[in-house]
Amino acid sequence: MQPQSAKKIKKVVFFGTGGTISGLSDDPNDTLNYTAGGVGIAELASQVRMGSSANDFVSVFEQIAQIDSKDLQFPIWTQLIERIKYWAHDPAVCGFLITHGTDTIEETAFFLAVMTAFEKNHDIPTIALTCAMLPASSTNADGPQNIKDAVGLLIDDAWTKSGVVVVCAGEVHRGEFVQKIYTDRLNAFSSLPYESLATIKDGISLNKKPLLQANSNSFNHVSNELRFDFDCPSIDDLLNHKEWPRVDIIHNYVNSSGDMIHALLNYQSPSSGSLRGLVLAGTGMGTASESVTKALKSAQSAGVLIWQSSRCAFAVLNVRDDLNFYDFHGLTPVKARIALTLHLIANKG
Ligand code: ASP
Repeated sequence: MQPQSAKKIKKVVFFGTGGTISGLSDDPNDTLNYTAGGVGIAELASQVRMGSSANDFVSVFEQIAQIDSKDLQFPIWTQLIERIKYWAHDPAVCGFLITHGTDTIEETAFFLAVMTAFEKNHDIPTIALTCAMLPASSTNADGPQNIKDAVGLLIDDAWTKSGVVVVCAGEVHRGEFVQKIYTDRLNAFSSLPYESLATIKDGISLNKKPLLQANSNSFNHVSNELRFDFDCPSIDDLLNHKEWPRVDIIHNYVNSSGDMIHALLNYQSPSSGSLRGLVLAGTGMGTASESVTKALKSAQSAGVLIWQSSRCAFAVLNVRDDLNFYDFHGLTPVKARIALTLHLIANKG
């Protein structure tokens, strides 16, 4: 009789960071008044009924933080990326699951998507971020199903090394495109103006789309959905970089002047020093009023790097000759800010 080959057990590494998914309220029917970040990651995962797939993987738990994601600071990102790099050396690891608050999950997803895309051979197992709109203590908590969906995806061979995804309410979004667009519904996210990667129904993922590719020093989308490129540090260079540059966002709006820009330029932050980069959340195609443009130009002359994005929720910017600053095709201002920060770090800023 042939010996049965031992089934390879996969490993899923869970990182808890807090958020509503781990939030607690005294009243299980109160979904508004609760404290984010109460239940630890191991306990959260233990509440999920995985069914027969529970035998297909082992879990490792690391509590990275226990916060409301509005309070997230860069050191949590460096800790996450350091732990991901550490565990990526373990061949049993099939994926990472990060529980996160919904408020800034799109920023963490974008940051991780960019940083891991640059790693040699794109060798990092899939990273799935998930979250919840209702606290863990709620009678109808949505977190357990979201965790179950995300784990199901990570242990599915079809999703091996699929970059960074956000799994919520039965949808799988690309980390680069996802945005929170609602504050009051379980399906709070959208990938618009692009499509989500997949929908999960009864454990089946549909509509899987091609992945992004990156070359060694710049990040380019292979599809023509979104075109942008910028320099990005390696994970090691990022971890060795002491002070992240200060990059802020400025809006253009009716009656806007350059005052805010001058104020930002003249301000010396005790924690992050002088202004190094500025993202314009411009009107429409990323435009700015005459006075804002003038102020941006003076900031540029003072050595501040200016990138132009749009305040429109689902902007796709076209290259135009009359754009005054670097045109950041279609990225939201908060994501453009992350990209500009990484670009400055890569250039020893
Ligand atoms: N304030 C929460 C957070 O982002 C919201 C949530 O998780 O839904 O941490």
